[in-house]
Amino acid sequence: MDKIKKAIRTIPDFPIKGIMFRDVTTLYSNPEAMKHVINLTYNYWKDKGLTCIAGIEARGFISGSIIANNLSLPFIPIRKKGKLPYYTISQNYELEYGTATIEIHADAINKNDNVLIVDDLIATGGTALACIKLIDKLNAKVSGCTFIVDLPQLEGKKRIEEIGIEVQTLCSFEGH
Ligand code: AMP
Repeated sequence: MDKIKKAIRTIPDFPIKGIMFRDVTTLYSNPEAMKHVINLTYNYWKDKGLTCIAGIEARGFISGSIIANNLSLPFIPIRKKGKLPYYTISQNYELEYGTATIEIHADAINKNDNVLIVDDLIATGGTALACIKLIDKLNAKVSGCTFIVDLPQLEGKKRIEEIGIEVQTLCSFEGH
């Protein structure tokens, strides 16, 4: 776990003052630390009956597709509005300033699927909760969520666990 945390670079005041940006590009470029990420995730989820992996744009695509391949499961992208070319289902969610919309292909997930949601980091949990609602609209089940980084002060992990969904995080940082 320490190896993973040490491989993540912190950029103070990015993109705005007061945010400590946890930059996973330095983790993604470190094959040893990434092997830990994938082993921990694989071992945690391998016997939980998952049928597909949904990665959140953009950093969730990178770890999500490696995890999907290791578990021999399909990878499904959840993207920002207007990026997916086929019929889509969408979900709006609140940002600190304004709202955002995420989308999934309407035929990407079936109603009997057990989905694992993947992203690099959970902060307030707003993005992940929007993904959960999106998958609910397709009548599939979210079996869990996995994030490399948790920011526990922002309580996103707690929010998701409170609605009965299992959450795995691999390391945590203080602050925002
Ligand atoms: P939230 O919806 O509040 O849980 O925010 C999670 C999303 O915002 C993820 O896609 C993260 O990549 C990004 N994010 C939020 N805070 C940070 C941070 N301090 N460092 C890096 N990424 C962040």
